[in-house]
Amino acid sequence: MLKDYEFWFVVGSQFLYGPEVLETVAKRAQEMTDFLNASGNLPCKLVYKATIKTNKEVTDLVKEANYDSKCAGIITWCHTFSPSKMWINGFVDLQKPYCHFATQYNRSIPNEEIDMDFMNLNQAAHGDREHGFIGARMRLQRKVIAGYWQDEEVQKRIGNWMRAAVGVMFSRSLKVMRFGDNMREVAVTEGDKVETQIKLGWQVNTWPVGKLVETMDAVTEEEIDELMDVYTSEYDLATDDIETVRYQAREEIAMKKMLDAEDCRAFTNTFQDLYGMKQLPGIASQHLMASGYGYGAEGDWKAAAMTAVMKAMSEGQTGGTAFMEDYTYNLDPDAEYSLGAHMLEVCPSVAADRPRIEVHPLGIGDREAPARLVFEGHPGKAIVVSLVDMGGRMRLICQDIEAVKPILPMPNLPVARVMWKSMPNLTTGVECWIAAGGAHHTVLSYDVSAEQMKDFARMMDIEFIHITKDSTPEAIEEQIFLNDLAWKLK
Ligand code: MN
Repeated sequence: MLKDYEFWFVVGSQFLYGPEVLETVAKRAQEMTDFLNASGNLPCKLVYKATIKTNKEVTDLVKEANYDSKCAGIITWCHTFSPSKMWINGFVDLQKPYCHFATQYNRSIPNEEIDMDFMNLNQAAHGDREHGFIGARMRLQRKVIAGYWQDEEVQKRIGNWMRAAVGVMFSRSLKVMRFGDNMREVAVTEGDKVETQIKLGWQVNTWPVGKLVETMDAVTEEEIDELMDVYTSEYDLATDDIETVRYQAREEIAMKKMLDAEDCRAFTNTFQDLYGMKQLPGIASQHLMASGYGYGAEGDWKAAAMTAVMKAMSEGQTGGTAFMEDYTYNLDPDAEYSLGAHMLEVCPSVAADRPRIEVHPLGIGDREAPARLVFEGHPGKAIVVSLVDMGGRMRLICQDIEAVKPILPMPNLPVARVMWKSMPNLTTGVECWIAAGGAHHTVLSYDVSAEQMKDFARMMDIEFIHITKDSTPEAIEEQIFLNDLAWKLK
């Protein structure tokens, strides 16, 4: 999917310096584009599109960018000075993600060569400020990245922003299939689906569990054989109860058929509505997540959609992104950890080792013992993300964490588990999280960064709260208070 998108490199200039300068600008812009594409640090293709000299050129280009479904955003830069009033009409119409890349063709100031001609050609230092002003004046939701275009760190930042922009494009057409409603009485999994569709684009709709059961009944033994081969090639079969695992395969095949028929990339279900089903989907949901589908348990469509969006943003990366739930704490002063898990459905993309297929009874849901994947999450820096509906606006809460190898083997815990240190520490992190209203369900990702989530939130015009190693409850509470005021005025 990343390969389906491109970004347009748009360079600002004007007629003042004559045709030769404009030719040089265009030639260099193409050279920089080729260099960036060859760097291997951009996940999507960059296309040098135009050197802008007039209002009409900007306006026409923005119309084309809005219309072109391949274009996931524009990246602007001013090689020379480009008077910004000519950008206003175009920017008013801009519907695609926008990054202002403040760079310069030459890295160093050349001692002998520098004269006024050189200065007129290479004046991004003030060209980019004029350009930046109009972005600020128009309150455009933009990303500003400054640095030398040949530096790997700068290229990676552009690449990371591209991934966030692709998340925006993916989000705007995302469809979520709900099998049944939310778990009864739960508040945080509720939300305004109309507001969400306006802001984030998600089409969240329900399909009957009865239809899923019908589709399951129509699955053939051959189809199940085929998926069982996939299961046993990817996971260790640690049960003799093959029929139970085959039943999960039947569930997965049926859910996938229904999802694909409606072009849905995320789904929810709930243990309270399994009418006609023998097992809560375990490995069925886990393997679908590993294939890129978003999932939310207990009808949590916000978590399902965010899982899908973050999987789309991190396509091709190998750290893993999973639906997660804070389950229980280890509060020893010397070893403060959160234990994350779910009653079945943690995505095996975060597994440290080859997952095991096991069958154990499930205390809730009143169904047969389901097959599930059991594994430990791998160590590494990661984030957990929660989207909550504050009434009138969505709030995205992101916390930095560091996953560790679980400090205990927990041999009687029959589910996948991830253990982590929260930032700034366990209890302060919990105070910040609870103050912000973060849910028990999250999306945990080793691949997507907090900066990318912030970029995503900004492009989507939703609130963003980041809990970091430096956070204090006081600062978070103040931010929440000010955000509440700001969002009332919006
Ligand atoms: Mn749950």
